[in-house]
Amino acid sequence: MKNIIIPILIATSLFTACTSTKKIKVEDTDTVFANTITVEELKKDLYYFASDAFEGRETGEPGQKKAAEFLKSEYQKLGIQSPLADDNYFQKIPKSFLPGGVKETENVVAYIEGSEYPNEIVVLSAHYDHIGTNGVDIFNGADDDASGTVALLEIAEAFQQAKKNGTPLKRSILFLHLTAEEKGLYGSKWYVENPIFPIENHIADLNIDMIGRIDSAHENNENYIYLIGSDKLSKELHFLSEEVNTKYTNLQLDYTYNDENDPNRFYYRSDHYNFAKNNIPIIFYFNGVHEDYHKATDTPEKINYELLHKRTQLVFYTAWELVNREERIKVD
Ligand SMILES: [Zn+2]
Repeated sequence: MKNIIIPILIATSLFTACTSTKKIKVEDTDTVFANTITVEELKKDLYYFASDAFEGRETGEPGQKKAAEFLKSEYQKLGIQSPLADDNYFQKIPKSFLPGGVKETENVVAYIEGSEYPNEIVVLSAHYDHIGTNGVDIFNGADDDASGTVALLEIAEAFQQAKKNGTPLKRSILFLHLTAEEKGLYGSKWYVENPIFPIENHIADLNIDMIGRIDSAHENNENYIYLIGSDKLSKELHFLSEEVNTKYTNLQLDYTYNDENDPNRFYYRSDHYNFAKNNIPIIFYFNGVHEDYHKATDTPEKINYELLHKRTQLVFYTAWELVNREERIKVD
């Protein structure tokens, strides 16, 4: 994320090149900003965030605190503010709310206000905690969920560049880096019970948890992502997501785990579920499990960065549509 000046210049020059010939429509600008999300930046961020320096990011431990500080500094560098008072990017979760033995921890929050419907908020979420160490090995959690964390940072950068270029963002966006997911979805549980904005103003949650790898079912067809929950609360969200993918990213959207009868019950197993419980439409983006899941071998060199890039762009385009479409998506 340190090379921010170059992508801004590229975005700006593309933008002016287009505006000189015709008036830019909102739907034309999304590609310009999606292209500020690059393989190189995702890779650089992920190698750092999943390095030993963060000691496996276990909830309440020094490595998690360091990860929280890193996220805060990235948002400050981007010029994206916190929705909380006094530039406080940390939403504290008290020890009393957490399972026994887990220390106080924090969600990291950042916010871009919309120009037309600022009270309608699109949530983009990913957990940044992982499972720490076993005393011998550090569990770096490169896929789980450094992949979602760096995707969120890059999406935030793309939206911020749009804002800086004067492209209207109709609705507000909350970047929500959740803690204590691995302890049992406590960060998201705390957020929905203590939301920063009235809970009914949250129009959707796009949750990313593990998007950098390939599971055994797709060894011969890597161009995929599992989508879970997209049609459960809003058909409109599902169709919008499909349309955006057809238009821009052309991933195979695999709905295997969206089946109510799927024994893995992934719909209930990551942070989006706490939003869905509150009647907020969600999409969960997930690559499926692999042999390194929750092992010390979930490391950065095993990530497929081209695929991480494509999946990140899919989430960006979907968020862009939710932010900028005329009507708030309907719950049905
Ligand atoms: Zn996870």
